[in-house]
Amino acid sequence: MSIDGRTQILILGGGFGGLYAAMHLEKTLARDPNVEVTLINRDNFFLFTPMLHEVAASDLDLTHIVNPVHKLLRRVKFFAGDVEAIDLPGRRVVVSHGFDHHHHDLPYDHLVIALGSITNFFNLPGLQERALTMKSLGDAINLRNRLIALLEEADTECCANIREPLLTFVVAGGGFAGVETIAAVNDFVRDALKFYPNLHEHHLRMVLVHPGSVILPELGEKLGAYAQKKLAERKVDIRVNTRVTGISDRGVELSDGTLIAANTLVWTAGTSPNPLLETLPCTKERGRLLVNEYLEVLEWPGVWALGDCAVVPDRKTGKACPPTAQHALREGKVLAHNLAAAIQGGPKKPFVFDTIGQLAAIGRRTGVANIMGINFSGFLAWWLWRTIYLGKLPRFEKKLRVALDWTLDLLFSKDIVQFMTFRAPTISHAENDDRSPNQAHGRDVTAASR
Ligand SMILES: Cc1cc2nc3c(=O)[nH]c(=O)nc-3n(C[C@H](O)[C@H](O)[C@H](O)COP(=O)(O)OP(=O)(O)OC[C@H]3O[C@@H](n4cnc5c(N)ncnc54)[C@H](O)[C@@H]3O)c2cc1C
Repeated sequence: MSIDGRTQILILGGGFGGLYAAMHLEKTLARDPNVEVTLINRDNFFLFTPMLHEVAASDLDLTHIVNPVHKLLRRVKFFAGDVEAIDLPGRRVVVSHGFDHHHHDLPYDHLVIALGSITNFFNLPGLQERALTMKSLGDAINLRNRLIALLEEADTECCANIREPLLTFVVAGGGFAGVETIAAVNDFVRDALKFYPNLHEHHLRMVLVHPGSVILPELGEKLGAYAQKKLAERKVDIRVNTRVTGISDRGVELSDGTLIAANTLVWTAGTSPNPLLETLPCTKERGRLLVNEYLEVLEWPGVWALGDCAVVPDRKTGKACPPTAQHALREGKVLAHNLAAAIQGGPKKPFVFDTIGQLAAIGRRTGVANIMGINFSGFLAWWLWRTIYLGKLPRFEKKLRVALDWTLDLLFSKDIVQFMTFRAPTISHAENDDRSPNQAHGRDVTAASR
């Protein structure tokens, strides 16, 4: 309880689980003057991950798949910060924020843990330093910038002898994120070639490395095989039953002993629960918090968890629900209901949900989908992918912006402008004192910045 006597609810994490719980609490508990609901998230926006590869491949503008939390929530308070520590016995959370990373100590009566997962490189040599990931908006922007920078470098005459590693792109992991990433990267780079006079199709190499026997195992063998065939037709080299074992100056090493001369490795082949969970004295399964069917953390009254960081029991199968956005957002709704029931009284609801379908875009207006047990492939599946995800993207403004991007894509080629965030060249006082004003602001300024 806070000093003003209000019941405090803290939601940690503003992804699919946390944000949707907060959006449902907007309509219930957040209206209650005796309750204060606060959402804490590192970024001040909600990221719509299913469209992330479209940002990396320049199909969509950088900010069109994210929504500012302040535009999504009015009554629920928002705190942009990093959760540093969770003290369950003391019922407090430590959050840092601001440029100086100062700390706040926030008490709670109810805590909702929705911190998602992080990338795991499994300690493979070189990956921590060199591999790119596909988890955040920054990751997608970084990949897009890298692709463009490599095209620029490879196009210059001085790089004629090192074009192979510059223009070889390896993606590890044949799940949804990996397949959609390699497909999008393949389309983007091949489309961009026409602007680089010294580069040709034969310079490019795209490799997808997957440990299983068929990619997209969640969609079944038939659709996986279809996706493999389509990608192979578009010159993606698919290595099944193979793992990436490391990356070094020489290139990407595979489990079958192959060395691929490549500078770029995108790793989508492993995640782990958020490391903050390790510090919690709760029952866990493979690092994820065990919850009951009402999404309450076992043995800790007032603590709730959902999404990728929780093991949510599936009543029908007796197994855990899969870590997907469609589950997390529905768990958010049920959790908000149960939290309101716990505070205001009323029956709780168990979480029951059957996966409706799964879809993947595999490039060149082609997709694969399984919806309610029915398989779709080709243009129809791609159209379903776009229609369904456009419908799911929060807020009309962003839907319209994405729809416009897609429409303009029919008329214009993809943008190849790099997104730079570093400061423009400056000159230090010491250098300034030694020069005349003309020198200081002339071409020497650029030279000094190199
Ligand atoms: C590239 C990609 C594509 C995907 N495509 C699909 C798809 O097509 N369909 C589908 O169903 N699922 C998809 N998923 C999976 C889906 O995104 C996840 O299952 C879903 O996001 C899980 O929701 P969550 O709330 O548990 O975690 P997240 O959405 O990851 O949210 C966790 C939030 O917590 C924040 N956070 C973490 N640690 C801290 C901290 N210490 N302090 C403050 N904030 C913190 C993070 O910034 C994040 O906002 C995809 C995932 C990726 C990466």
